[in-house]
Amino acid sequence: MPEIPDLEAIRGFLNQRLPGVRIERAEFLIPVVFRVPKEEFVRTLEGNVFGETQRHGKFLILALESDDLLVINPMLTGRFQYLQPEEKRRARTCLVLSLANGWELRYADDRVMGKVYLLPRERLHELPQFEEMGPDALAISREEFSERIRRFRGQIKNILVNYRFVAGIGNAYSDEILFAARLHPYRKRTSLSDDEIERLYEALGKVFAWATPLVAEQMREELNYEERRDFLKIHRRGGEPCPVCGTRITEITAGQRITNFCRNCQPG
Ligand SMILES: [Zn+2]
Repeated sequence: MPEIPDLEAIRGFLNQRLPGVRIERAEFLIPVVFRVPKEEFVRTLEGNVFGETQRHGKFLILALESDDLLVINPMLTGRFQYLQPEEKRRARTCLVLSLANGWELRYADDRVMGKVYLLPRERLHELPQFEEMGPDALAISREEFSERIRRFRGQIKNILVNYRFVAGIGNAYSDEILFAARLHPYRKRTSLSDDEIERLYEALGKVFAWATPLVAEQMREELNYEERRDFLKIHRRGGEPCPVCGTRITEITAGQRITNFCRNCQPG
């Protein structure tokens, strides 16, 4: 699942290349991901020119000269590609934009759970989740964080990934943040002290400040399918030694979600 560091890297990559570039051809390939009729999609995009790309939570927002926005929520498996036209297309390529600079911007989605919207800028707030979405994880202040978190009950990991609390944190980075904060993922929010909430806020800032440039560096030259997260310290490292204390990292799968933590560094 693309999270803040991935989407920030994609945003940076696109902003180096797309502003001022005209879309020559728009291909609407897998209808289930589109929240806009095909004809309208093609008509609005073809001949349009890209402006700046922004991010809000897990939504990537590509502005167009016409003041329309192409908004993509990649959900679990959506991936962006910026390739030459002769590069082979993935099986689940949903959308291809052929650009006047000779490149193609593609969106592929193995589980086709992502969503593609196209709408005038003034209607952005109408998108699902936008009204209820909490502040972005990169923008939330310490005060707002500790005030908002008190509105949520239940396990702390579930609260971190809840976009109503704070937007942009997914499964992988919530594990990293909890590890950095030395908090057990299944602790109840109501059991956390003020100091622990403070630690959680600090950890959130630290993890994204550390991971975002790493992902951006991997994506400096090329935007392609794979998400590389070999630098993560705890997520997807079940059975390996904890980088801090050497205890074997615990892995729990619930639903389709893997949670990793260190029982020693993050006591329950
Ligand atoms: Zn440990």
